[in-house]
Amino acid sequence: MTKIALAIHGGCGVMPEGSMTPEEWEGARRDLAAALRAGYTRLQAGDSAVDAVEAAVVVMEDSQHFNAGHGAALNENGVHELDASIMDGTTLEAGAISASRAIRNPIKAARTLMEDGRAVYLTGPAADRFAEAKGLQIEPQSYFTTLKRVEALEAMKRHAADGTEGTENEKHGTVGAVALDAAGHLAAATSTGGYNNKPDGRVGDSPVIGAGTYARDGVCAVSGTGKGEFFIRYVVGHEIASRMAYLKQDIATATEGLINHDLAPHQIGAGLVAIDAQGIAVAPYNTPGMFRGWVTPEGKGFVATHERVYEIEL
Ligand code: ASP
Repeated sequence: MTKIALAIHGGCGVMPEGSMTPEEWEGARRDLAAALRAGYTRLQAGDSAVDAVEAAVVVMEDSQHFNAGHGAALNENGVHELDASIMDGTTLEAGAISASRAIRNPIKAARTLMEDGRAVYLTGPAADRFAEAKGLQIEPQSYFTTLKRVEALEAMKRHAADGTEGTENEKHGTVGAVALDAAGHLAAATSTGGYNNKPDGRVGDSPVIGAGTYARDGVCAVSGTGKGEFFIRYVVGHEIASRMAYLKQDIATATEGLINHDLAPHQIGAGLVAIDAQGIAVAPYNTPGMFRGWVTPEGKGFVATHERVYEIEL
């Protein structure tokens, strides 16, 4: 059995520490820890990296703290349109759902589509119909709505009217996971409500294979968060894998290169989690904080929102 490892993020749309109460931060860390445990338990049981990333993402989709599933962002019309994707690094099979208005756990629909195999991408009402036909849970729009996102949409509309800049938290967020399983396989998964006040029908990077999500055995698995248009233009996930495969960069160099060099001139919020074939995980970001967590190949678990890192019981 090779080593197992896992890393998750709950988005880089995180406020400066003083702007939320310690209890609120604690609540977010608790849900990060639950997501980490959900994924790690699967890896420990000998299940696949795909199983682990899906399990971790489902917990974060169900949490109100993160912009995915329940608690997702609202678009310019006050509607939730959800994007998600999953990729198996062994077969390079992938499944992605975009602009779903009703799937409780979009990551489950992405996985089901990957296994169905007839398409990589399904979008809009067809994605919702596919999920329903496959027996996945369907919800009314109200299930996804939280007060925090309603306020963020109002704030973003105000910023648009006065030409001011929104905070990272008002703007966006996403959840994602990457894993190395006991058989040495890699997988990645990402799920998001996208941007608050995003245009009707806008699809971000999270469901775009190679941009917000990418996995390739022997190289790396990547899940991104940040202004999706730039992740799509730079094909961030695949670019990191290419630099590692062709330039022989290590995972820290390849990911820092993208976040701190290539994306830096665009002055956008950006972050990601990535893991290499040995289970080394990194979580670079350029915003005040990023919800994140990881389990090392030695079996130690950690969660963090800002610089301070907390060790957790697994
Ligand atoms: N990447 C997501 C999107 O553009 C948003 C985020 O991660 O903050 O849809």
